[in-house]
Amino acid sequence: MSDPETLADRLRAGEIRLHELEAETDHETAATARRRFVERETDTDLETVGDYAFAAEETETAIENLVGAAQIPLGVAGPVPIDGGAADGEYYLPLATTEGALLASVNRGLSVIRRAGGATARVTKNAMTRAPVFRVDGVVEAAETVEWVGENEERLREAAESTTNHGELLGVEPYVVGDSVFLRFAYDTKDAMGMNMATIATREACEVVEAETPASLVAVSGNLCSDKKPAAINAIEGRGRSVTADVVLPGEFVESRLGTTAEGIVEANTRKNLIGSAKAGSLGFNAHAANVVAAAFLATGQDEAHVVEGSNAITTMDTRETDGDGSADLYASISFASLQVGTVGGGTKLPTQAESLDLLGVRGGGDPAGENADALAEIIAVGALAGELSLLAALSSRHLASAHEELGR
Ligand code: NAP
Repeated sequence: MSDPETLADRLRAGEIRLHELEAETDHETAATARRRFVERETDTDLETVGDYAFAAEETETAIENLVGAAQIPLGVAGPVPIDGGAADGEYYLPLATTEGALLASVNRGLSVIRRAGGATARVTKNAMTRAPVFRVDGVVEAAETVEWVGENEERLREAAESTTNHGELLGVEPYVVGDSVFLRFAYDTKDAMGMNMATIATREACEVVEAETPASLVAVSGNLCSDKKPAAINAIEGRGRSVTADVVLPGEFVESRLGTTAEGIVEANTRKNLIGSAKAGSLGFNAHAANVVAAAFLATGQDEAHVVEGSNAITTMDTRETDGDGSADLYASISFASLQVGTVGGGTKLPTQAESLDLLGVRGGGDPAGENADALAEIIAVGALAGELSLLAALSSRHLASAHEELGR
């Protein structure tokens, strides 16, 4: 085993390559050697990057060419009571961000929701998708393939589920474009976000399709899945969890706590989130749902690129008849079409991310399986609802610029 300086020298001499260090020494020494090498090559000091709290070995399935860690400040907002299909109780929401005012904004929204007795949330659909693309000769072979798939879903299910103890194939939806056939496989991946699980299961099912039909597999992901790209199919059909959170706020709270009225928030939502988003051709009809999704994803070890799909959310605000205090109550909701979360696998195993999942009581597999990931989706949806309420209130009471001035600069 060599010391980091000797290994860094060997890197410089071209005797070994950056990714080969772990084969020569332990993970910690490899990361130090790589950092020393990069520091010297670039004449930089990565002392803070090298000051991390996890064991380098624990990152083995999370990253390659490790040199250290990028630390992101973590805060909490709440507590907020949630009546969910899976979430049940009071929660402090961990959020990792560098955007000043975000935690304050979410916290303000959650505090109003708390005073109103809490929010309700439900996961209404749960289906992680993978859509391989096959080559056929033309429309006759395409139709033959589609027909076979329709008549043999059970065989595809057997093949796909032979690769996993937890995943269940929910269905396969075929799409034909010329001589390309796409099969959109949808899975219940329980507490796993499920991208690896769904990909491995789909690859197995593709072998059966190739053996029994004229179709040849071109790529196990044909982009109709659609992973990490803005896509209407996810906004309409869903991907991962489809989850909605809602609350009714008494008009007096809207006035005393948010400094505006239910009518003011409804108008801001209609003109901005609905009309403005429609005019922009947006897939997200919300104010800043991605802010809460991104910060919660970073805190809890989700795949951060799935913020793309996580921004597919529609916020609705409506007035409800007053309870007699003279001012209209406010019905507020947010519906995510494609929130992709897991409480096992991927980055959820890393120590700080696992602690954040502990904070929410959703670390690891749920009982029954899937319940923890459902709960996480519901909690994030309530956090996003709070963010929507707070921002819309700030806009309708024209406080936004001053809040950013005070907290973000
Ligand atoms: P994973 O870490 O690959 O696998 C998680 C495994 O945990 C499952 O396959 C399952 O094993 C097991 N498990 C144990 N308890 C479970 C429970 N209660 N519910 C569900 N599963 C349970 O995680 P993944 O969620 O499938 O994939 C996430 C990773 O995929 C992330 O790191 C992400 O960055 C990456 N990713 C991959 C692709 C891709 O195309 N491959 C694309 C985007 C992201 P069994 O299957 O044996 O039951």
